[in-house]
Amino acid sequence: MATISHIGGVLTFDQAYETVLTYCRSTPAPPSRTVKLERALGRVLAETILADRDFPPFHRSTRDGYALRSADLATLPAMLRKTGQIKAGGKFTGTVSSGEAVEIMTGAAVPAGADAVVMVEYTAQKNGAAKVEVQVEVQRAVVAGENVVAAGAEARAGDKLLPKGMRLGPAQIAMAAAVGKATLKVSRKPRVAILATGDELVEVAETPGPHQIRNSNTYSLAAQVEACGGSPILMPIAPDEELKLAALIQAGLGSADLLLMSGGVSMGKFDLVEKVLTEMAAEFFFTGALIQPGKPVVFGQVLSNLAAQANFANQTDGSTPKRSKAARKRKTVFKQRLPTPFFGLPGNPVSVMTTFDLFVRPVIEALGGCVPSRLPAAKARLRTPVKAKTGLTRFLPAILHGDLKDPHVEAVPWQGSGDVLASSRANCYLVIPPDRDQIPADEMVTVLMR
Ligand code: AMP
Ligand code: MG
Repeated sequence: MATISHIGGVLTFDQAYETVLTYCRSTPAPPSRTVKLERALGRVLAETILADRDFPPFHRSTRDGYALRSADLATLPAMLRKTGQIKAGGKFTGTVSSGEAVEIMTGAAVPAGADAVVMVEYTAQKNGAAKVEVQVEVQRAVVAGENVVAAGAEARAGDKLLPKGMRLGPAQIAMAAAVGKATLKVSRKPRVAILATGDELVEVAETPGPHQIRNSNTYSLAAQVEACGGSPILMPIAPDEELKLAALIQAGLGSADLLLMSGGVSMGKFDLVEKVLTEMAAEFFFTGALIQPGKPVVFGQVLSNLAAQANFANQTDGSTPKRSKAARKRKTVFKQRLPTPFFGLPGNPVSVMTTFDLFVRPVIEALGGCVPSRLPAAKARLRTPVKAKTGLTRFLPAILHGDLKDPHVEAVPWQGSGDVLASSRANCYLVIPPDRDQIPADEMVTVLMR
């Protein structure tokens, strides 16, 4: 594994992010599988896609109009003789000579002899005297190459078009289709176990008691995992009780490529996640980051205890179920005793989503064979001034108004990191650097899209 320079402790945002990227560089390539092209959206390429021919394969007209010789338009209007018509997919065997024009449609191959296409809008057809010959009056000049994409201008046969490790969006899928790939080799999605902890939690379908709340983190995390290309495994809620928590952590570690826990990482008496992981001899890369929200975030790795790995699917009480000898053997061969990475995310619903976006997403991308990406950043004008205490990098839920003339951003009023409603109204993070205690209105600020 690549050297992680900061082990343990509370790091600045930049140090914590660097630590995550260093971890990402050390992840082994995942196994691959073949999927149909129409099932490939969001998957990560496990093969390089090459051009099977030149792109475009012929000199392509980009307009409906007339293919002609640009030198024939020295004097305007020019009168040319129409010698044929070519539609997209059609073939024209002749050559365009001086004084001639061939009617051509968008996407058709420009015939030999012609060096440009003039748009139909700048022409008029006139019947010649004999009514057999059609004359074309051209009112505008074109330069050689105008309205034509030369064969091979986009790519040459054999060129690398899409690299291994690229995530497939609609444009990449179009490219794969254009080179005839009906199926694609993609990386297996990383399995991500999600474990919410807390005695106050009940499941979504249950009616909470007066002092209880519904578990929302499992579902926001599962949605975020899916959105960045992982396969979520939803675990039952873990109570704030050491033995049961430990059994569920082991079950999660054993069944997944990454374990995400929420809650139980702050300074409270019943925040047991770090304690339990320490007892499992976990290695902590960091135990906090100087950010808000999400300061108590924990990142590390731990060797899972194979004997305790559980098929927790039928297990809701946190105890360790029995597994067959064959199942244990299978898991042993497959896992090869590599440590499993984990994140202990703060329990507050806004913190959990923010720390996922900042730190977990790159790790899921790397485990899925993808080059980790940063959240897209942009500058926008701050509409309403903000105040903050210095020392923490803040990622506040905010709304970026995509007004074309005046893109501006404003923080969503919130009641702190438990305010999931504020988060659900936001579409970006407003970033406040750790050395700023206030930012006046109209300053250009950084926003991160989510
Ligand atoms: P903790 O980090 O465990 O101290 O929890 C911080 C806050 O987040 C508390 O108010 C918890 O009730 C809340 N919380 C913890 N886990 C969840 C969850 N899974 N869903 C919703 N809220 C949670
Ligand atoms: Mg808790």
